[in-house]
Amino acid sequence: MAYTWEPKWEVFEVDVEGIKFRTCRDKITGLIACPICIHAASKCLGEKAPSTYTYENSFFYTIEDLLKHMKGYHLLGLKKRVTKLVEKLREEE
Ligand SMILES: [Zn+2]
Repeated sequence: MAYTWEPKWEVFEVDVEGIKFRTCRDKITGLIACPICIHAASKCLGEKAPSTYTYENSFFYTIEDLLKHMKGYHLLGLKKRVTKLVEKLREEE
């Protein structure tokens, strides 16, 4: 059993139900990474890594699980931020 897991990322294109984006997938385990959590742009898409970024490890066996995670975890967070902003703007009116 390996004690450390060194992912070998390859570009993986998700194209399901009109949702299209690219993220990284591990060549060996086939695990799909959440593009937001691991910052896919710099991990496997050849872009520069941001100087500050909160990396998280989120890997999924299926696209469905990844989409569920993105909807629940990231969209919910975004919704909260938008709601807060709307409230703030209302206060300023
Ligand atoms: Zn994520």
